[in-house]
Amino acid sequence: MWNARILTLLPEMYPGPLGLSLAGKALENGIWGLETLDIRGFARDKHRSVDDTPAGGGPGMVMRADILGQAVDAAIAKAPGNDVVYLSPRGRRFDQAMATEWAARDGVTLICGRFEGIDERVLDARPIIEVSLGDFVLSGGDVAALAMLDACVRLLPGVVGTAETLVEESFQSGLLEYPHYTRPQAWEGRTIPEVLTSGDHAKVKAWRQAEAERITRLRRPDLWERYEASQED
Ligand code: SAH
Repeated sequence: MWNARILTLLPEMYPGPLGLSLAGKALENGIWGLETLDIRGFARDKHRSVDDTPAGGGPGMVMRADILGQAVDAAIAKAPGNDVVYLSPRGRRFDQAMATEWAARDGVTLICGRFEGIDERVLDARPIIEVSLGDFVLSGGDVAALAMLDACVRLLPGVVGTAETLVEESFQSGLLEYPHYTRPQAWEGRTIPEVLTSGDHAKVKAWRQAEAERITRLRRPDLWERYEASQED
């Protein structure tokens, strides 16, 4: 079973949206498992505080190295094979390739920060990689963790209906996806492109490929450049 381990101050956020629909069904069916580790459980004082004021001054609070360090060690002991990831805007940008890589392993361990972030020494002292959901600042790592897990879980065998669905999707081929249509045939005067109702599978395939290329070239020159280079190889 693929396992997700989450170090968090808000364990009640889980499974949250991942308890519903495809991911929820897969969770119920034991295709994947989710274990939260409440960082506050490692606090020692009677207020169970996990954060303190930043050295050097400034606004906000920082999660303490000693308490988070213990939580990280407990998570590593439970799943020694997992990558340990700190969710952070400074990290490498999460993408489909990373989701595919994580999904192929036994699972992943995610550390969710809160407040201003965590004491840097934990990142120096433990084998932790930093990964970002995107170039924006969230109030905590939990929403990023849920998004990344969603991307991984739908890649696990048996979660999404057919493997074909996954192969054709945006990013998997290096291109953005072609447009989709369904009934009704005409809507507000707009009809479905004729080729899609022609029954000619080769033509449909060629049209979809051409559309995927057109949209990628237009919207994501960065992806397009990489795609073109990969085609030349
Ligand atoms: N002071 C930090 C932001 C802290 S936000 C800075 O300027 O970089 C609080 C927590 O939210 C972080 O510890 C991190 O775990 C999480 N977080 C915020 N934005 C994120 C993003 N884009 N991707 C992943 N995690 C994020």
